[in-house]
Amino acid sequence: MHGLMQEAELTLDRLLTHAARWHGQTPITSRSARGQISRTDYATLARRAQRVSNALRAAGIAKDDRVGTLGWNGHQHFEAWYGIIGIGAICHTLNPRLLNDQIAYLVNHAQDRIILADGACRSILEDILPSCPSVEAVIILDEEAPAPFSSCPVPVTGYEAWINPHTETVEWGKFEERQAAGLCYTSGTTGNPKGVLYSHRSNYLHALMVLGPDALNLSARDTVLLAVPMYHANAWGVVYAAPMVGASLVLPGQRLDGASLYELMESEGVTYSAGVPTIWQMLLAHLRETGASFSTLQRVTVGGSACPESIIREFRDRHGVDVIQGWGMTETSPLATVSIPNRRINTLTDEEKIGWKLKQGRPLAGIDLKLVDDAGAPLPHDGRTPGRLLTRGPTIASQYYGEPHNALDSEGFFDTGDIATLDGDGYMQITDRAKDVIKSGGEWISSVDVENIAMGHPAADLCAVIGIPHPKWDERPLLLVKLRKGAAATAAEMLAFLEGKIATWWMPDRVEFIDEMPTGPTGKIDKKKLRDQFGGVTFV
Ligand code: ADP
Repeated sequence: MHGLMQEAELTLDRLLTHAARWHGQTPITSRSARGQISRTDYATLARRAQRVSNALRAAGIAKDDRVGTLGWNGHQHFEAWYGIIGIGAICHTLNPRLLNDQIAYLVNHAQDRIILADGACRSILEDILPSCPSVEAVIILDEEAPAPFSSCPVPVTGYEAWINPHTETVEWGKFEERQAAGLCYTSGTTGNPKGVLYSHRSNYLHALMVLGPDALNLSARDTVLLAVPMYHANAWGVVYAAPMVGASLVLPGQRLDGASLYELMESEGVTYSAGVPTIWQMLLAHLRETGASFSTLQRVTVGGSACPESIIREFRDRHGVDVIQGWGMTETSPLATVSIPNRRINTLTDEEKIGWKLKQGRPLAGIDLKLVDDAGAPLPHDGRTPGRLLTRGPTIASQYYGEPHNALDSEGFFDTGDIATLDGDGYMQITDRAKDVIKSGGEWISSVDVENIAMGHPAADLCAVIGIPHPKWDERPLLLVKLRKGAAATAAEMLAFLEGKIATWWMPDRVEFIDEMPTGPTGKIDKKKLRDQFGGVTFV
């Protein structure tokens, strides 16, 4: 027997419609590439998103068509996003930090018909469009009258001129909740990137799952600075979760350095933010150098890579800001676990709680986790035994876009490619990515653990540990350190700092100091580049 409740498909247009109707005046602030601040609100944003839908329809875009976006976080990007998905078209977020060849590959793989881009991405488009025949038109989000491309005849129009002739009346939704909404490719550090095709239902459920107090804890009282780029897995779901509760949004554009973020946080009264650890390292360094502190910021979610202990402590002790770690991946929408104290851990002291904050956390409702060995046999959830982390649930990918086979095991679990432990309370801790793990004498060394501890050295700004070939042990760890501005440390001092904190056989065989820590397209430390750079180093 079915329940006797109203049928309402969980389509994402409902979220912006809700925000426009019930939080219509709530401010949305953006900073443009040129640093100008512009202000709008949910009601205005929704009306303009409807114009986008009509402009897309006039250009022949229909349900299932892919429309690319190539840009940073700004209100036009946000409007365009909802304008695309509202009519059942698919918003394909392209990452401008990828190489041009990779972007061209993605546009061709997705067969994007229109691209909406920031003016700052013009040179990328000039370069790739001649080899992207599916693209019929380009709209520049932040320019009034963009010049034609010299490399190809694809028409280019300014966003305002493109949407202005169109009305604000459009019927959104009216399709089933399993309709595809977004397409986001993994960054493809190994092999070609793979497309994750989100549905309205999966993103709607994800937004509900991340809102609660045991996850992002977002509310209508929050002002959220979105330091996660919108091209990085739905900006961790905040693109949907914020309108769901009518949280005010601050969209910082391209400038994510410490000074720029701090200025926006203070001027806009930001209470919450989310981003990868490298963003917070830059922000904290800026505060250290200037002696400034936050007047409104209460909490930050750190994810994308392991959160170093030093970030948790510095935010807490110097600024009274609570750090919450989350784990996920493009394939998991992305948030799947969040490290919030359960009833038992809540009784511990703040100092004792740090150990749990360093874990990647407990699964959100509807997410299942298990650990297996390389042969797929289950491993104990004892908080000690590392294994391959598998997950399943309604917000987890089942298959990659354009690939014929489903990506799941016989029980419907997706292999995350991460190595983790899981304890009796359900706290998961990543020990490594399978491809980053260091295999020494047949045993695994967790690069994540060593990095975390090394970052606690007062002179260290960023640390990375990679495996280097060794004739006897297969691989041994190499510690790479970028020092804080004006700080000094020797290799011996770094090693002495690790002594007693890690197993002796985990001790790096060598320490190298580097001026710049390479970051990948989503702002995380790029270990592939480091391995390429230091591949010639061998230990004897
Ligand atoms: P990519 O890093 O390749 O651009 P994703 O953003 O999908 O693509 O990355 C997902 C991966 O990031 C996870 O599989 C995991 O290895 C890593 N990751 C995400 N969050 C955390 C975290 N809190 N701690 C450790 N690793 C994390």
